[in-house]
Amino acid sequence: MKFPHSIRWRLQLWYGVLLALLLGGFGVTAYQLESARQLRRIDEELQQRLPVLVKSQRPSRANREIREFSLSPRDAALFDPQGDGAFYYVVWLRHGEPVTRSASAPRDVPEPPPGTPPNRKRGDLRETFLFPGPGDCVLVGRSVSRDLADLRLLAWWLGGVGAAVLLLGLAGGAWLVGRALRPIAEITSAAGKIAGGDLTRRIDTADTGSELGQLAEVLNTTFSRLDAAFTRQARFTADAAHELRTPLAVMLIHLQTGLTSEGLTDEPREAFEASQRAAQRMRRLTESLLALARLDSDTAIHALCDLAPLVRGAVELLRPLALQQEITLEMELRPASGSGNAEQLGQIVTNLVSNAISYNRAGGTVHVKTASEPGTAILTVSDTGQGISPDDLPHIFERFYRADSVRSGSAGRSGLGLAITRAIVEAHGGTLTVTSEPGQGSVFTVRLPGGGEM
Ligand code: ADP
Repeated sequence: MKFPHSIRWRLQLWYGVLLALLLGGFGVTAYQLESARQLRRIDEELQQRLPVLVKSQRPSRANREIREFSLSPRDAALFDPQGDGAFYYVVWLRHGEPVTRSASAPRDVPEPPPGTPPNRKRGDLRETFLFPGPGDCVLVGRSVSRDLADLRLLAWWLGGVGAAVLLLGLAGGAWLVGRALRPIAEITSAAGKIAGGDLTRRIDTADTGSELGQLAEVLNTTFSRLDAAFTRQARFTADAAHELRTPLAVMLIHLQTGLTSEGLTDEPREAFEASQRAAQRMRRLTESLLALARLDSDTAIHALCDLAPLVRGAVELLRPLALQQEITLEMELRPASGSGNAEQLGQIVTNLVSNAISYNRAGGTVHVKTASEPGTAILTVSDTGQGISPDDLPHIFERFYRADSVRSGSAGRSGLGLAITRAIVEAHGGTLTVTSEPGQGSVFTVRLPGGGEM
């Protein structure tokens, strides 16, 4: 299925985007919380050391104006002499040694301007300071490069775990979506087969608890009603055609008797003849309707039969009609066995050849050919007649459809011949196709499954 229209891919995309956003949001929040916690801890450690520095400055014994700074050995241990992450201090005194710094303190620590916030970050260094008196400042700092490296590692971990969870989530989502949509594919396939003609089939509703199961139930009810309507219609057609047979036979007998009675003048004779033609046409119509009804109920016996002798039989039957219309009948017959009912297959040939004669021009030709391909029997009926217009072509297989241009000139035809032919072909699992060139002729091709050459 194509990407933009597939429900499966759209669900998968939405699910993937949501999962990625959720995991991304979770990862970023976790990282921010951890980095804020680290910074708070470092600031607390720095601030704990500030009071030590403040109390380590006192007035000089020699000159009370001057202040001295000296750390007791215990306090000095709070400031490691060197090493990554070592605490350092810098003390600025207005009256006294201007700058005093621990051994590990960088050379270039600028004095913080009074009034600035008590923490600052300079590159990989974090510093905290205090202004104990006007012009005096004590500062404690340390390198945070190791903490930053830890945070970077945490970021990689979060990214890696997030990507793994995303992949797992996508795979699980694909499986779930596939499982959820599988019934739709099953319903589509079953509905397709039912729409293809097998009205007795039903969708499996084992999963009736879900919404899809309920949909399948609704579709099954619809198909049952369609099936019932279709059966009723077929039965009605068959019953009506059957009931009409007897009165029509009686009418034809009486008309025949009337026509042979003595002393019949021209006027009533013409009326009798017109009535006889009409009754004969009605009989053909009822026969066709009965044939269609029988096909719809499909009770015919199937066997393997060769199309070639069927063509010969049909052509012999129709030769008088061809002669009457000055049509040459040509045959090119190779063995071609199709699986089916001989009587119905004979009807296919008769219908197609009789059309090819009827819709031909005087002096035209009808060419009937049988051939075989592996597993398929092929019958081709071509004529040199008037052809079929592109407007009529899609409709000629419909019941009672007749092209307007020929309607007036072909009394006695019902518009059911091709509908019956197609119904027979389809009931045999075959195909009936037509190509036509108006003014040049038409070619009808029947392909039937079977044994091919006999
Ligand atoms: P009909 O009883 O009218 O022949 P069919 O179902 O056999 O009914 O054919 C339907 C219509 O298809 C015909 O009315 C005719 O217009 C057209 N048709 C069928 N076969 C041919 C053909 N060989 N050449 C031209 N038109 C044809």
